[in-house]
Amino acid sequence: MKNKIKILAYHNVLPDDGTSGIKDTVKLSTFKSHMETIKIGDWQVVPLIQIINALNNGLELPKKAVVITFDDGYKGVLSYAAPVLNKCKYPATIFLSTAYIGTEKIFPWLPRNPNVEYNQSYTALNWEELRVLQESHFTIGSHFHTHQFLPTLNSIEIEKEIKISKKIISDNLGCEINVFSFPYSFPFKHTLWPEFKEKIIDMLVLNGVVGSCTLERKNITCKTNPYFLPRIPLFKNDIKPLFAIKLETNPLHLNFAQNFHQKYLKYRGI
Ligand SMILES: [Zn+2]
Repeated sequence: MKNKIKILAYHNVLPDDGTSGIKDTVKLSTFKSHMETIKIGDWQVVPLIQIINALNNGLELPKKAVVITFDDGYKGVLSYAAPVLNKCKYPATIFLSTAYIGTEKIFPWLPRNPNVEYNQSYTALNWEELRVLQESHFTIGSHFHTHQFLPTLNSIEIEKEIKISKKIISDNLGCEINVFSFPYSFPFKHTLWPEFKEKIIDMLVLNGVVGSCTLERKNITCKTNPYFLPRIPLFKNDIKPLFAIKLETNPLHLNFAQNFHQKYLKYRGI
């Protein structure tokens, strides 16, 4: 039997009060239904580092496992996702864009959409709140410092992004950061990609990083490069049956279904 390993990429979780979130946010009831699906499906929820260590050391991968991750560092993760995860005793990793942590501001890359009211759940977590997450089942990782489109930066700028974010997290939370996630849906077809790929692996290794996540849709096998781990992004319309499909389906087949569903919702004005 092939290994079934899925790394889930969430951003933010919002309460079910009728607020219309942006595409990357998931309502609390939807998030709960995802965790129920994981439980019922007999998936083992494992920490990200377990998969990275197995890939780096040629160890056996779990047969059927899910990893839960969150990008950016939204307050909604502490307020809404963490209590659900704590109840299930599921571990998770949150990747922080360190320049914004503690600013209490709305993250600047969020789309300016007049139909979305950016409430407090969309603001960046502060260090005290992150210590609460750290004490529960959360591992802290870096989403680089200023959330830039990395392939357009030169080597010095990229190294700065890695070093500064590691130092800030270590100074504030007292932990060494060895896992990263790349900002933005990763540009594998971008013309700068081949050169960037070489550069970034060297820099991550030199700075003690053991693994990094992308948003590439691919299967995870024993041959997967731990510095380009594929993940499955979860969106606001991923209701329970769609989530179950995402968990069970080959990620390469998901793009078509996801795009079709998004177009259908747009057509219906949802
Ligand atoms: Zn991000």
